[in-house]
Amino acid sequence: MGLCPLHQDRKPSFLVDPHHDLFYCYGCGRGGDLFRFVELYHQLNFAQALVSLLRWHGHLPLLRAAADFYHTQLHRRRDGLDYLYQRGIRTPEVIEHMRLGYAPGACLRRALLEAGYPLASLQQTGLANAAGHDSFSRRIVVPLEGNLYGRSISASAPPHRFLPGSKGGLYMWEHARHGTEVILVEGLLDYAVLCQAGFHNLTCSMGTQLNAHQFRQLCSGPRTVYIAFDADHNGSGPGAAQRLAQQLVPHGVTALLVILPENHDPNSFFTGGGDARHFQALLESATR
Ligand SMILES: [Zn+2]
Repeated sequence: MGLCPLHQDRKPSFLVDPHHDLFYCYGCGRGGDLFRFVELYHQLNFAQALVSLLRWHGHLPLLRAAADFYHTQLHRRRDGLDYLYQRGIRTPEVIEHMRLGYAPGACLRRALLEAGYPLASLQQTGLANAAGHDSFSRRIVVPLEGNLYGRSISASAPPHRFLPGSKGGLYMWEHARHGTEVILVEGLLDYAVLCQAGFHNLTCSMGTQLNAHQFRQLCSGPRTVYIAFDADHNGSGPGAAQRLAQQLVPHGVTALLVILPENHDPNSFFTGGGDARHFQALLESATR
């Protein structure tokens, strides 16, 4: 018996029968088997839920192997570490905590085939493209729950890429969910510099648009959320932060907007000379 992940639950009303793989919620009245749960939780139809479960079950070891491979590459080539250094990420602790990796390109496929994974699986997960080449090339890689994020280190490629499929829940939510206060950033490199600066009540939505799962996570209890999205000059970050704040309030969440200097995101705030004390001051002057 626990808090229901399908509605905003204040006292445990969600019952799981592990012997029969069934659930029932006394609060919202929904129940069923594993497939029904995935349909409701990820808002999928039955066929999509089935595919998603098969993928999730079958490909997790492969994604983990790819993340491990990329992690070892980070320490074997200068490019990735140089890029992280430029972006203000300098401590081995944060690299290990996030298990950051580097995809040089044109080497993952061979390593995973040698490890016994079939090419078809690499292509199904999107690690390799239809022609069989590595999808990530010259990217910093961050492992997520059931996906990988790749940040290009060269200006000529699109900066952000995920493997096909959901980006999943809030980043490292397990570490942040028990706090009464949480800082929400939109980029994983923002997360990295804040984590390095000693802010641990921290999570990342990987973009300014939260998916339904991430939104429910933020609303899962009474808490204060400091929204620290990018202060881009076109106003898209601040606009998204404001909309999110308005959506959170009816769910009992106190949402505060952290105002960064114009054209800065938390990452550039730190690489531009800001430190933990300066950022703390921004948190303290955050507004509704
Ligand atoms: Zn419920």
